[in-house]
Amino acid sequence: MELYLHIPFCRQKCAYCDFASWAGREAWIPAYVTAVLREAEQARMALGPQGLITAFIGGGTPSLLPVDALRRLLCGVQALFPLEAGAEFTSEANPGTLTPQWLDAALSLGVNRLSLGMQAAQEPILRALGRIHTMAQVRESVAMARRAGMQNLSLDLMFGLPGQTLADWSESIDAALALEPEHLSCYGLIPEEGTPLGDAIARGEVELPPEETERAMYDLALERLRRAGFLQYEISNFARPGYACAHNLGYWRQTPYLGLGVAAASMLPGTDPEEAYRRRTNVRDLAAYLRQGQAGRFIPAEEERITPAQARFETMMLGLRTCEGVSERAFLTMHGIPLEEVYGQRLRVLAQRGLTEKAGEWWRLTRRGMDVQNAVLVELMEE
Ligand code: SF4
Repeated sequence: MELYLHIPFCRQKCAYCDFASWAGREAWIPAYVTAVLREAEQARMALGPQGLITAFIGGGTPSLLPVDALRRLLCGVQALFPLEAGAEFTSEANPGTLTPQWLDAALSLGVNRLSLGMQAAQEPILRALGRIHTMAQVRESVAMARRAGMQNLSLDLMFGLPGQTLADWSESIDAALALEPEHLSCYGLIPEEGTPLGDAIARGEVELPPEETERAMYDLALERLRRAGFLQYEISNFARPGYACAHNLGYWRQTPYLGLGVAAASMLPGTDPEEAYRRRTNVRDLAAYLRQGQAGRFIPAEEERITPAQARFETMMLGLRTCEGVSERAFLTMHGIPLEEVYGQRLRVLAQRGLTEKAGEWWRLTRRGMDVQNAVLVELMEE
């Protein structure tokens, strides 16, 4: 099983962010840790003994947790769900909040991979995004993490940003590569309704780069990172050999996961033949989550039974996001039915149109197929 722990605290809310995270609520951290530990205890009772093959602390800004809270949280959770030998354990962190003490504590508690939000190398762009840090602080954070002994480091970058030129993007990639990370994620901005930036774009007050520029930015990343020795293993993710994120690969391969914390989602095995697995999402309201914690009763905001047919489609949807694609053998093992029988005909039609291809026992999207991924998935849906 994989574990996801959600930390919903941030120093300041970024202009584009619609994640479940809040600024100015740090006083709630002790109560939040107590609630998460209570949720973990209940999950342990329901699931029985489970080792963790990966764990991920995301947010929010996990590096905003005081060291004593981090220690209480991670010791408590690992006493219930121990990490298996060699498990990847990632924590997200933001430059401007990271300290040597936090890093030492995280490493001593088993965290062995750090994912830092860099986003861009230009101060005006960072300010426009509402990021709290400068590029100098990104460099400081990376140096601090390396000094502390963090050997697996990922940087997040964003493209398609307001005011961002192709030259800015090229400079951001170079600045990230100069920091010698093991892994890079490059996300195109998706303007979300209800965020300050999304709303300003909708009102026409802020302009995004044209679509051709955004496409050129993505192409530039593919080329530059390939030349720098990174392998692309998913649309937005690139790693040096051996450093693909095991936790994310687990999501895309439908490994069961437990999510703890406000707004966290879980996907756990089903209880009857008509339920391949069950997806639950916690409440998104922090005060409501804390009340549930105090009452010792966690009521999910959403709960969905995933049928075997839905699970098969999700295998395709998630697997085709990755560059290796979907394995016929893994599909058969997971669903007890050959991939050929369910999707063979439709995949071949798509292949004739240059959107899918087969390599050995793997079906994957071509570059053109990646560009129109949603349309391909619609065509693959079972009637
Ligand atoms: S630091 Fe991350 S989670 Fe926090 S507001 Fe910014 S984008 Fe959202």
